[in-house]
Amino acid sequence: MKKIKIITLGCDKNLVDSEIIAGQLSNKYEVSPDFNEGEAIIVNTCGFIGDAKEESIDTIFRAVEQKNFGKFNKVFITGCLAERYYKDLKKDLKEVDGVYHLKDFKGIVKELIPDYKPSKDLFNERLALEMGHVAYVRISDGCNHNCSYCAIPSIRGKYKSRAEESILSEVKMLKKAKVKEIILIGQEISSYGTDLYKENRLIKLLTEISKIAGEGMWIRLLYSHPPLVTEEFIDFIAKTDNICNYLDFPIEHSETEILKAMYRNDTREDLLEKIKYMRKTIPNIALRTSIITGFPGETRKVFNNMLKFIKEAKFERLGVFAFSPEEDTDAIDLPNRVTRKTALKRVSEIMDIQQELSYEFNQTLIGNIEKVLIDRVDGEYSIGRTFRDTPDVDCEVLIKGDLDVGEFYDVKIVDATEFDLYGEMV
Ligand code: SF4
Repeated sequence: MKKIKIITLGCDKNLVDSEIIAGQLSNKYEVSPDFNEGEAIIVNTCGFIGDAKEESIDTIFRAVEQKNFGKFNKVFITGCLAERYYKDLKKDLKEVDGVYHLKDFKGIVKELIPDYKPSKDLFNERLALEMGHVAYVRISDGCNHNCSYCAIPSIRGKYKSRAEESILSEVKMLKKAKVKEIILIGQEISSYGTDLYKENRLIKLLTEISKIAGEGMWIRLLYSHPPLVTEEFIDFIAKTDNICNYLDFPIEHSETEILKAMYRNDTREDLLEKIKYMRKTIPNIALRTSIITGFPGETRKVFNNMLKFIKEAKFERLGVFAFSPEEDTDAIDLPNRVTRKTALKRVSEIMDIQQELSYEFNQTLIGNIEKVLIDRVDGEYSIGRTFRDTPDVDCEVLIKGDLDVGEFYDVKIVDATEFDLYGEMV
């Protein structure tokens, strides 16, 4: 079979899209992110902030270079950058053989398989492009919150819940395929059902998923919307054994005046209250957050208050990026801009603090027996994760020896750095 290389940039929502395309192509082509030559390269781009756009453009140029060297015959692009700048890219990128709107899976596949007949449920025929034992399950797409800095609603559109039957049938299929971890994603998952069923059905959906998953499968929840995280939701995670005690809780900022300018309906006090409740209700919960530095109006005093908040909240995992003024967002017109240099310096300051917090936290795990899911074997180490860690973004556990990928093991933690844990089999 001829080969197609798919390069996926950006977030796991894009990975799901790439896997849908790969699934549809897989009758006629071998598809992988690792090929060095073949029929075509598909670049699934990201484009929500400046750095992501640059990376996407660089990757497209590198793909075109490979085509010019004769390694591939064609280059196609899709994803968020292609959606956002569709007309410009179509006009300017003459060396590219096709630009496709986000979600125009059928268009891109038809280009490579002219007599292609689409499957009824594209999700159920996805081809795993990364780890076979971990699957990202998208429960919704788009977003209605219109945070003032975020271009995503203009790229991915209004909130759209995926039908419950489709999600549950995918989970059943993954259970049958012996997948060990499903990661539920959406731009934000907290509003699930509000469009399609006119009521919030997140807990109902999770109840059904949890029943199907049963024992021996982790369910991980990514991308909650903090203003919509309720005590009922936290209580539900607390009592549901196969949902990991982990939550992606992206606060973006801690200070009330900035949150207001971001159009996020939380205050500093609300956030601290919610974090306190989560820690009281689920004592071993691992919280991951993301932060934006240098939002307009972030004076040094405001930033110092955020540093205090971070030290108090003690997130187990934290990602931070500098504010990027984006077209089609309200924040682009806000006064009191912070220079890029200052915003980047503040990124480093937060990372320094977070590294100390992560180190302190990881040290407390030494001596624990942890359940670890093995993701890969690399040299003398088998590398896996605890329930506290999402693939690619959080910590890993390194265990000497050759363990089975995709299996759970009880591991004693014997050492820890800010980034990784070291373990021994018990
Ligand atoms: S909730 Fe997330 S995706 Fe939606 S507008 Fe805000 S930052 Fe963007």
